[in-house]
Amino acid sequence: MESLRFKFKWLDNQGNEAGILSKKGSFDGKTLVLDDIQLPAACLTTVESRGKRFVIATVDREGHTHQAVFSITSGSADGLRAELGLCRSRAWAEAHREELAAAGRAHEFRNAICPHCQAVIDLTSMPRTPQVYCPFCKTIGTLDSPQGPIKAEAQYRLCDTCGMYSKPRKFTIFYFYFLFVMYGFYQQETWRCPACMRGEAWKNNGVSRRNRPHNLPDFNSLKVRHSTYGHSKRRNSF
Ligand SMILES: [Zn+2]
Ligand SMILES: [Zn+2]
Repeated sequence: MESLRFKFKWLDNQGNEAGILSKKGSFDGKTLVLDDIQLPAACLTTVESRGKRFVIATVDREGHTHQAVFSITSGSADGLRAELGLCRSRAWAEAHREELAAAGRAHEFRNAICPHCQAVIDLTSMPRTPQVYCPFCKTIGTLDSPQGPIKAEAQYRLCDTCGMYSKPRKFTIFYFYFLFVMYGFYQQETWRCPACMRGEAWKNNGVSRRNRPHNLPDFNSLKVRHSTYGHSKRRNSF
């Protein structure tokens, strides 16, 4: 494959970008290069990603786990995600097949190609089912679908918040705050299902209303004042 080039920033423990300048990264189908670090993709035990953010982990010869979090600032995060999945899945499936062959059990090896990301899914010792879960793109895909890959399947995931099988997507939450001497807002991105997002929206609405300063009446207090004025007027008129 043609080497995939991108730029990235490391993320700290709070998920904030570290440093001002982006660093160079690349993936040639086998080795992931992040600045001056070279990582064989097949040795990555974990690759989790949301949007442009990635968490990777590997284990060294002494058995120590190393992990890193970074965010793609330019280049294709989807491309990197897909290529890492292809490389890792093929390497792992081949390693397992060779392991079984060495033990004289090569006939037990069974695999399938994910209809959504084309990763090799190792199905050895698993029962045959019409659908399979791909651990690389996290999709449950239908095998041998006469219409080809079913697009709607790719939208279904386990929700990060409730853990239910749903259609999580990215929401951007704006938190507005009003303090005595200042006001402003900050935003946060979250991946969750619409049902979980509804609860957050109500909660956020409640927080905004509680933090409102006394000189900015909300709709309900406006109504109260209006009726108070009306009442006093009526009283005055009598
Ligand atoms: Zn897949
Ligand atoms: Zn949810």
